[in-house]
Amino acid sequence: MSRSHNKKRAPRVLVIAPHPDDEVLASGGVIQEHLRKGHSVKVILVTCGDGQRRGLLLPPKHFLRLGERRYRESLQALQLLGVHEKRIIALGYPDRSLAHLWAERSQPHISRYTKAHAVPYEWAYRPGAPYTYESLLADLTEILTTEHPAVIYLPHPRDRHSDHHAVYLFTRAAVHESGLRPQLRHYLIHYGTWPFPVGKCPDKPLLPPRSLQHGEWITHELRTEQLQRKCQAISCYRSQMHYIEDHLFSYARRNELFDLSPSSVSRGSRIRLPRLLSGLRRGRSSVQSRA
Ligand SMILES: [Zn+2]
Repeated sequence: MSRSHNKKRAPRVLVIAPHPDDEVLASGGVIQEHLRKGHSVKVILVTCGDGQRRGLLLPPKHFLRLGERRYRESLQALQLLGVHEKRIIALGYPDRSLAHLWAERSQPHISRYTKAHAVPYEWAYRPGAPYTYESLLADLTEILTTEHPAVIYLPHPRDRHSDHHAVYLFTRAAVHESGLRPQLRHYLIHYGTWPFPVGKCPDKPLLPPRSLQHGEWITHELRTEQLQRKCQAISCYRSQMHYIEDHLFSYARRNELFDLSPSSVSRGSRIRLPRLLSGLRRGRSSVQSRA
């Protein structure tokens, strides 16, 4: 029976990142913890980060090269954390366009940067896949159905970057399509000036923004060596280090945060800060127990 076979299978974890670097910033510590426990970890890069607002006038091949470069940076960073290249899936959808894919539905989208209307990378999951809602949803659903993850790390619905919000929507839709019931752990990257202060402060805890403290946050405390590895991995994103180095290192804290039941709409500005720590179940994440 397949049931006894399934019993022996290591728990499967999926990390879904809109851009190369989100996977390490959000979960570079907890990925190491999962691997330490013998869990199977796969990472999905939805885009290769092949867009750049400042360079719109540059030729398409510049952005194709950027996409390839950023993909390689993720491979290198994740290898440092123990994730083999074979366990990294690059979907190759267009950077800064995922909200369009979600909204436009059937029309193929053309990237403003690469000018591609289909996945242009031969090393991607499905080269030539059209830039459509159906295509991205089908890829994610297929991967979920194959992997059967017990836990998925995905963007928080209140993340203010449109690609991040769209990846949340696509992942929720794919989970629904797959009929699976994985635990969803939502991570935040873009939210105003959060995390504050900017820059490397590894002794400081990462706390939820005050306006999002109503969520059900769990935290993973990084071991010393996990934090060191995470910092080394962040340094691999050299294409980003030039101009947002301080910002990237703002995520190198002594813990990582995940919201189990986020609200996707604003609940207004009522803030009850004293409740913050009670809502934050410190060290209680299932990957955290060190029995
Ligand atoms: Zn991102």
